[in-house]
Amino acid sequence: MTKIAFIGLGNMGSGMCANLAKAGHDVHAFDLNADAVKAAVAAGAKAAATVGEAVGDVDVVVSMLPAGRHVHQVYFGEDGVTAHAKPGTLFLDCSTIAVEEARDAAGKAADAGFSYMDAPVSGGVAAAEAGTLTFMVGGPKDGFEKAKPILDIMGKNVFHAGDPGNGQVAKIANNMLLGISMIGTCEAFNLAEKLGLDAQTFYDISSTASGQCWSMTSYCPAPGPVPTAPSNREYKPGFAVAMMLKDLRLAMGAGDDVGADTPLGNHAQQIYAKLDEDGFGDIDFSGVMRRLKGEL
Ligand code: NAD
Repeated sequence: MTKIAFIGLGNMGSGMCANLAKAGHDVHAFDLNADAVKAAVAAGAKAAATVGEAVGDVDVVVSMLPAGRHVHQVYFGEDGVTAHAKPGTLFLDCSTIAVEEARDAAGKAADAGFSYMDAPVSGGVAAAEAGTLTFMVGGPKDGFEKAKPILDIMGKNVFHAGDPGNGQVAKIANNMLLGISMIGTCEAFNLAEKLGLDAQTFYDISSTASGQCWSMTSYCPAPGPVPTAPSNREYKPGFAVAMMLKDLRLAMGAGDDVGADTPLGNHAQQIYAKLDEDGFGDIDFSGVMRRLKGEL
């Protein structure tokens, strides 16, 4: 049994925290939202009233927070994690934040005598609840070895991506590709349908030909061919446009920092940003299909 603090019990963190408690670990849960803490207690964790109370006597801190500024505040702010944790405590931040913010956090943590790993996830709320997330972990090999048994409880694939920040690199590069491939898939289905080829027939052909990709075979944006896809439930997320936009902005920002040319990533960002501005940030990102059809 490991003593673990869990900070950030929102859509994702609640299920992840519950899985750690269910596996028999001693989990101390904290969130600014008292109802989220109550739900964690109902799922087997112990309530902490402050960050300090959560982390004071644990070996591992897991966090799942909205963005980089929350992560820096929680770990390094006044009365934050580093002010209260035992030296040597392992920090596993599973939030999606900027590469530079993660590298900065790893450096600050090391200076204060802690080991920080960035461990962002792929997979949504259902995967968080089921314990089937994919983790992409950046940080030293020994930290990864210590983190793996904990992450294995919350995920089914746990990868060591290398140096600090590399987990975030893997996450944003993957999601940039996903954002682009989804728009391409929507365009292909829309073109085929407008030219008289129905979605199922096009799917049957393209999913076994060279156009095949995850956006098509696991998440088809045209209703019908993939029954579990959000396109069959009025494009309810799934993975919302606003979340894809967040990841694309992180990818574009990181690309600018290193001079990586990402013309399609940029264009994809504009398409999702326009949907978001027009009030469709909370529909599934495959809802680009509806925009192409002129329905939004
Ligand atoms: P969320 O907003 O539902 O949850 C965040 C939680 O953090 C909230 O409960 C909030 O009260 C808490 N919080 C904020 N500031 C805090 C602080 N200072 N101290 C303690 N608690 C604090 O967000 P989410 O959907 O769970 O996403 C969390 C992270 O996971 C994000 O970085 C997101 O990009 C990433 N992510 C989300 C999904 C998804 O499908 N939702 C998928 C992959 C990755």
